[in-house]
Amino acid sequence: MTETNRLRIAMQKSGRLSDDSQDLLERCGLKVRYHAQRLLAMAENMPVEILRVRDDDIPGLVMDGVVDLGIIGENVLEETVLARRSQGQSTDFRMLRRFDFGGCRLSIAIPADQEWAGLESLDGCRIATSYPQLLKRCFDERGLTFKPCLLTGSVEVAPRAGLADAICDLVSSGATLEANGLREVEVVYRSKACLIAKSEPLDADKEALVEKLLVRMQGVSRARECKYIMLHAPKAKLAEVTALLPGAEHPTILPLAGSDDHVALHMVSSESLFWETMEELKALGASSILVLPIEKMME
Ligand code: ATP
Ligand code: MG
Repeated sequence: MTETNRLRIAMQKSGRLSDDSQDLLERCGLKVRYHAQRLLAMAENMPVEILRVRDDDIPGLVMDGVVDLGIIGENVLEETVLARRSQGQSTDFRMLRRFDFGGCRLSIAIPADQEWAGLESLDGCRIATSYPQLLKRCFDERGLTFKPCLLTGSVEVAPRAGLADAICDLVSSGATLEANGLREVEVVYRSKACLIAKSEPLDADKEALVEKLLVRMQGVSRARECKYIMLHAPKAKLAEVTALLPGAEHPTILPLAGSDDHVALHMVSSESLFWETMEELKALGASSILVLPIEKMME
């Protein structure tokens, strides 16, 4: 790959996905210095450049082949696919990975004091949303209609302002809805952040780099899920101790200097170790129990 042929990755410039997207690439070993005013940032140690844009633009940039990869919420991706399809534009892309960040749901919410008798009660009503396509698909599937009120922000104030009867907006905790006197009544779409690639094949060097990044991303996510557990245990209780540890089929057992009846046990566990389990281990005679986070992992 030449210097002018860098793998181009699009990510959100500033918003809910930007910190996690930057953090992910950093954990994958990419060294990038971001400048607030610059659209493009170069990785210092890999032939990669990062294009930072509004999240709405990312699926189109990938589908038009302007960038090689994009990190984007599935909600925006799916909305773009539906919108482009309805306009006869290309919607080709490759889904490479679903991440464990950016989780949210697109939901319909109505004024909290209003009764809810199912989606039928909104038939023909005006609904404020930034996601008209996903909402239309949901209504179409039930044979219902609605009048869209398109807002790109502050959707949750629409019913109070008399602009709409209900809203369809992204929710994670539900606190914003509650603060605006709204009640979530129906989930339209569940979303997480994901990595997509343009559909045309990349050249061999870029493809190899993408493969390398995917393996590292897998390692980052596995490391987040796993813990490294170390403890000292009486030899006589080893079977009972390992039975308490999730995923301890092949622990490393090491001799302990100066002790004939105790050993050290090291293992990677795919589950977190609860206080209750640690107390049970202690009751079996285990000691020096350490649960450590794992930074990187390659299996
Ligand atoms: P931009 O200026 O890039 O267009 P935006 O205002 O459209 O930003 P954000 O609010 O930053 O977008 O949200 C980006 C993405 O983060 C959403 O499309 C969604 O995938 C994800 N997300 C996760 N949780 C939430 C949430 N509670 N509310 C909104 N988006 C969320
Ligand atoms: Mg946006």
